[in-house]
Amino acid sequence: MTGVIIGVESTAHTLSFGLVSSSGEPGSSYSALFRPIEGGIHPREAADHHSTAAPILVKQLMESEGLNPTDIGGIAFSQGPGLGPCLRIGATVARALSQLWNVPLIGVNHCVAHIEIGRNQTGCYDPVLLYVSGGNTQVIARAGDRYQVLGETLDIGIGNMLDKFARNQGIPFPGGPKIEILASEWHSDNPNADVDDIPLPYSVQGMDLNFSGILNAAQQRINEGHELGAVCWSLQEHSFAACVEVAERALAHTGKNELLLGGGVACNERLREMTKLMCNQRGSIGTWPEKRFCVDNGTMIAELGRRMLDTSAATPFTASEVNPSLRTDHTIVTWD
Ligand code: AMP
Ligand code: MG
Repeated sequence: MTGVIIGVESTAHTLSFGLVSSSGEPGSSYSALFRPIEGGIHPREAADHHSTAAPILVKQLMESEGLNPTDIGGIAFSQGPGLGPCLRIGATVARALSQLWNVPLIGVNHCVAHIEIGRNQTGCYDPVLLYVSGGNTQVIARAGDRYQVLGETLDIGIGNMLDKFARNQGIPFPGGPKIEILASEWHSDNPNADVDDIPLPYSVQGMDLNFSGILNAAQQRINEGHELGAVCWSLQEHSFAACVEVAERALAHTGKNELLLGGGVACNERLREMTKLMCNQRGSIGTWPEKRFCVDNGTMIAELGRRMLDTSAATPFTASEVNPSLRTDHTIVTWD
C-alpha cells in the first residue's frame, strides 16, 4: 500500500480528520467539538455542526500537511457505533472524498480503533482495553479473530455520568477535566480524607458496571451540603475503582498481562494512577497513549483503516451504510 490514509471520526460530539503514513506513523488530527449551549448532545444539532465544520477541517488538513489527492492511499471512516445523524455526516464526506480522489473507502469500528491506536502508540501487543469515554465504558480483549466485550456499562458511559454531574453544577461540557481539577485541589487540601466520609454507591455486577445510581447519589451529597470538590473526589474514587476492578478481573480471567486505557476519561491522571497501582501489584503492565489519542480523533480511524486495507478488501459503497449499534465483536480481526 502506498500513500497516507485519512481517517474521519464523527461518532458523537467530535468531528475529526486525521492521518497515518503507509507504515503506521500517526500524524495530526484536525478536530472540531460540538458543545451544546445547554442540556445534553442533540444528535441532529451535532450533525449540523459536523456538516458545517467538515469542509473547513478537510481544507486545514490538506493545506497544513501539504497533501495533494495523489498522496492519499485510502479514506477510512467510523461506521459505528455512535449517533446515527453524526455517523452519516462522516460516512457521506468519506464516500465523497473516496470518489473525488479515486481511493479505497474503509468503514471501521470506532471501539476497535481505540485499541489499535493504543497498540500503535504504546507497543503493547495483546492488551485488555479499558475503554472509558463519553458514550462507552467497556472492557475488551482479543479472543481468536475478534475483540470480545468482557464487561461493560449497563446504562450510561462513565464520561457521560461525569458530564451530567458537572452540568448540574453549572460546569460546561466536557465536565470530566474540570471534575479532575476540583477533585485534585480538594484532595491536596484534605490528604487524609476517607471515601466513606462522602459515601456513594459502588456498583459492579460481575464484569458489568452502571453509573446512574452514583450520578444521583453524588447530586444528593451536594444537596446535603457537601463541598463540590469533596464530591468530585469521591465520585472519581468510586467510579474509577469500579472500572479498575473489572479490568483486573478481565486480566485474571484472560491471563493477559497488559492493560491499555483508551477513551476521553483515560486522560484522567487519577485513573492512570489507580491503573498503574493495580497493574504493579499483579505484575502486569498498565499503559495508555498520549491524551490526543485517548479522546476521539481521526488519526485512530486512519490507523485501523490502514491495518484493514493492508490485510483485507476495501468497503464497497453498497456496504458502507453506518451502523449506530455496531458491536465490538462484529469486526473480524484480519491484521496482526
Ligand atoms: P470521548 O467520548 O472519548 O471523546 O471522550 C470525551 C469524554 O471524556 C467526556 O465525557 C469528557 O468529560 C471525558 N474526559 C476528558 N478528559 C477527562 C479527564 N481529564 N477526566 C475525566 N474525564 C475526562
Ligand atoms: Mg471513543
